[in-house]
Amino acid sequence: MINFQHIPFGLRESDGELVDVADVQRGMGCNCICPSCKTPLIARHGDVNQWHFAHASRSVYSKTKKDCDFSFYVSVRLMARQIFQEEMTIQLPQYKGIVSDYSSSGFCFAEEFIVSDKQSIQLSDVKIEASFNGISVDVVGNVGAFKFVIYLTHPNRHVPSELSCFKHPKYGVLKLSLESLITLYSENNHSKSSYKKLLKDFLANDLPSKEWLFHPRYEQSENHAKEVNRKKNTIFRVKT
Ligand SMILES: [Zn+2]
Repeated sequence: MINFQHIPFGLRESDGELVDVADVQRGMGCNCICPSCKTPLIARHGDVNQWHFAHASRSVYSKTKKDCDFSFYVSVRLMARQIFQEEMTIQLPQYKGIVSDYSSSGFCFAEEFIVSDKQSIQLSDVKIEASFNGISVDVVGNVGAFKFVIYLTHPNRHVPSELSCFKHPKYGVLKLSLESLITLYSENNHSKSSYKKLLKDFLANDLPSKEWLFHPRYEQSENHAKEVNRKKNTIFRVKT
């Protein structure tokens, strides 16, 4: 069972790359540090427990322990950014909205509308840890003539309000939650698939973890649905 302090990806000191625990020498010879608190790591390749990195130096770790409460997610988020730099194709969920209107007698008209169907996009010219609208976001890339922003979340990391209310005709903004990966990794037997491979597949194909925060067509779709609702309301008034 993986927990919040288990670290699937260490920061290799020689080149600053995030590496999977399966791709390094076991023990202290892994030459990696914790990407969150920079304490040296030990690679645990056990026969029974899930493979993971653990903090090697108890004296250093005892001073930094509080900062490292979420080292699992810090390491996964940094590896996710590294993977996104490979300019991958990602699946996006359908984006739906709903508008409602009331008749003078209190009858409710609701109209659901589709902003965007489920689709796959190819990210290019990817920048990580980019500044966007005054805040630091994980990924900014191009999708055709549009810019696409990804904000990664996990327990104790939430979407900033500046991003939640962002609007721009040339931008799409997506929230991607890494929360379910702890379960996915806990269920994985390391001989089946590496953490990095699982993460890459998750980032590309998992839909429940993804949520649209803004889509450039939202306002147009919403206005159309409002118009449909107004017509329904007018017909209702004539009939009653
Ligand atoms: Zn740490």
